[in-house]
Amino acid sequence: MMAQYLALKAEADDCLLFYRMGDFFELFFEDAKIAAQVLDIALTARGEHDGERIPMCGVPAHSAEGYLARLIKAGHRVAIADQVETPEEAKKRGGSKALVARAIVRVVTAGTLTEEALLDSRTANWCAAVGEASGECAIAAADISTGRFEILECSAEAVGAALARLNAVEVIAADTTDLHLATGYRPKAEFDSGAGEARLKRLFGVATLDGFGQFSRAALSAAGGLTAYLEHTAKGALPFLRPPRITRSDAHMAIDAATRESLELTVSQSGARKGSLLDAVDRTVTGAGARLLCTDIAAPLMDRSAIEARLDLVQRFHDEQNLRDDLRASLRALPDIGRALGRLAAGRGSPRDLGQLRDGLDGAWRLGEKLGKLPQPPELLGALIPDLRGHGALIDLLQRALVPAPPIDAGQGGYIAEGYDAALDDLRDAGAGGRRALAALEADYRQRTGIQALKIKHNGVLGYHIEVAAKHADELMRPDSGFTHRQTLAGVVRFNAPELHEIALKVTQAGAHALTAEAAHLEELTAAALDRGEAIAATADALARLDVAGALAERAAEGGWTRPVLVDHACFEVEGGRHPVVETALAKSGERFVANDCVLSESSRLWLVTGPNMGGKSTFLRQNALIAVLAQVGAYVPAARAKLGLVDRLFSRVGASDNLARGRSTFMVEMVETAAILAQATPRSFVILDEVGRGTSTYDGLAIAWAVVEAIHEDNRCRCLFATHYHELTRLAERCEALSLHHVRAREWKGDLVLLHEVAEGPADRSYGLAVARLAGLPPVTIARAKAVLAKLEAGRQKTGGIAAGLDDLPLFAAAAEQEAETVDALRAELAGIDIDALSPREALDTLYRLKTMM
Ligand code: ADP
Repeated sequence: MMAQYLALKAEADDCLLFYRMGDFFELFFEDAKIAAQVLDIALTARGEHDGERIPMCGVPAHSAEGYLARLIKAGHRVAIADQVETPEEAKKRGGSKALVARAIVRVVTAGTLTEEALLDSRTANWCAAVGEASGECAIAAADISTGRFEILECSAEAVGAALARLNAVEVIAADTTDLHLATGYRPKAEFDSGAGEARLKRLFGVATLDGFGQFSRAALSAAGGLTAYLEHTAKGALPFLRPPRITRSDAHMAIDAATRESLELTVSQSGARKGSLLDAVDRTVTGAGARLLCTDIAAPLMDRSAIEARLDLVQRFHDEQNLRDDLRASLRALPDIGRALGRLAAGRGSPRDLGQLRDGLDGAWRLGEKLGKLPQPPELLGALIPDLRGHGALIDLLQRALVPAPPIDAGQGGYIAEGYDAALDDLRDAGAGGRRALAALEADYRQRTGIQALKIKHNGVLGYHIEVAAKHADELMRPDSGFTHRQTLAGVVRFNAPELHEIALKVTQAGAHALTAEAAHLEELTAAALDRGEAIAATADALARLDVAGALAERAAEGGWTRPVLVDHACFEVEGGRHPVVETALAKSGERFVANDCVLSESSRLWLVTGPNMGGKSTFLRQNALIAVLAQVGAYVPAARAKLGLVDRLFSRVGASDNLARGRSTFMVEMVETAAILAQATPRSFVILDEVGRGTSTYDGLAIAWAVVEAIHEDNRCRCLFATHYHELTRLAERCEALSLHHVRAREWKGDLVLLHEVAEGPADRSYGLAVARLAGLPPVTIARAKAVLAKLEAGRQKTGGIAAGLDDLPLFAAAAEQEAETVDALRAELAGIDIDALSPREALDTLYRLKTMM
């Protein structure tokens, strides 16, 4: 057995091996130690291997799912080695001592789950692979719980952002690459683009992929790597994938990982959904709707007409409350057909999944009928309605074939409806007749023996048998009683009898035949459903899209949100804007959120926001970034009025000290991220910078903040909100014509600081640092001492001009940059003109001196 185990373990690679033994899955050696710890189950030992006791632990096979879930959550992968023949077959094959053959039937990984119990119904479960060819990259991602399959083509730099958008639970790359985001590596050959093309053609049964769109080599490499991996985990079974949707990374607003984290788009900084934008917006009533909303928020669109189409649909549901209520009530009642289909396609479906398809498709049909009658339907609705209808024949078949509430477990039968199959009905009648005969026999035995407590029972070991209490057993034990003794337990004794045997045989046979007949129907019905797999998936998508539109309309109506107006030029005009997450949090404690305007235009595209700590600067910055995201998702926005030009890239950076808890070299991170903005932001981008520069000493920090603001103003020319406590930066307003000054208002009243959370024009009059400190509960003596120190420092500043002294002498950023560029050009020209081979050592030295003086 150990030899078989070790061979399987070698095949399982870095997975934990679940080794089937009877009713248990057992783990051995290191696997056992890991599992015992993660699952908090007893670690025992068994036998010996190389003179050492073998550590072992096990979980019951019937409840393995829950244990699997915990191991997967803890970051492990599990290979399932099951018995692939019965003990009888093994005996026939190799004699009485033969070992039952086992094989790895499946590898369970986080990205390849379909089980309802192991998945979160409101989150998509992406498994991604990164491919590369001639310098270009692509990501292929599949959610096999629903069959969604996406391919994203992007540059090497954009891979991180694209993976962050998908939030994939598994990321696979070729073992020749070194991708720090990868969770696993597979052989390079599986990422070969030629092999990938062949694999895709086989998967979709087509001679050419042209019908799906244009595949780059990188896309083929990624898709090939992904499908090879999925086949590997399913042990050769083809995964259920719908035809891929190919997008280019510029189809979406580019949002890098750091920005997503800082804006808390789909998860908060603690990693939970609660506290995120998604959570504050989500009013969906179905799992599929929630998954789509999450996908949408992670990927705001760049195509204005597509956004307007979504907005038109939301508006219709927003304006007509009855329609919205109706829609949401209908959707709420529908099962998750996308996931039911995924389970059926993966070969792990149940009668209940078919029942869900029946009810879901029927509901979709009715909804389609209702919506089809709407006058002047929005364009998107018109496109969705055909997807809702059209499963008539399948619905009819399933309605005839299945009982109203089919069970998850097919093993007991009972899911095929009466009247669907006459032969099955006969078998069931025979079974029922037999059961009636058993009841009659029981009554007869009671009468004959005079034992009223005599029972005919059934169990897996003895089959049908007669049971009496021990005190009555003697009567039946008599040789001439007609009963044969089978078993004595504490308290009861069990018997058999010829009549019972005969009737029992009939009942059991009829039952077995009925089960076989039902199983055959289950297979046919599953095949009939899978035949329409792609169309069913499209119905699921259409329902999800309707749910998202209805939910966004609901949220808008609830919060008094407005439809954003999208325009071509890079403006950003928000009146009465609010932060959906902060507002919700404040409302819980009965506080009111103060709405604020933000108007950026070509002539005033950079706002410098100053004001005391806790004054509301961060909140103001973020709310505007979130409004841009929501608008491009095709949602209403939390504002009284909003007009904006599309944002191609969104950046959000927070000064280092806010991130200290994360324990990285935070200032370094802050600078790396800021560098990325300066390198990537375009005039169509939107950037929020919160206290950038504060992660270092005052002078360094001010200098860096100063230079960054100048660079953004002069070079990137993007829309930008910059919050800072460096009062000195306000001097930049004198030299940057598109920069304007704003502050969050505060007042001191009777010695107390009152934060008004109102954004007003002009610089803050002072910093209120000490007032904030008092607010925070610093002891009065410390405050008094700080006041004295401050007075001293301020006196010093008066004399020297303060830390910003001398800034007025700085050349303008553009002039400085131009000068620098000229020097570089001159040096380059000079270098290009030198023929090194023609120089004597002396001349070479002279040339070096000359170059040096040019700088
Ligand atoms: P800052 O960045 O200036 O230190 P924050 O934006 O972090 O300040 O805001 C601090 C707190 O003030 C928030 O947690 C919130 O409770 C409150 N706040 C911020 N903006 C508003 C607003 N517009 N209306 C009401 N309360 C606000």
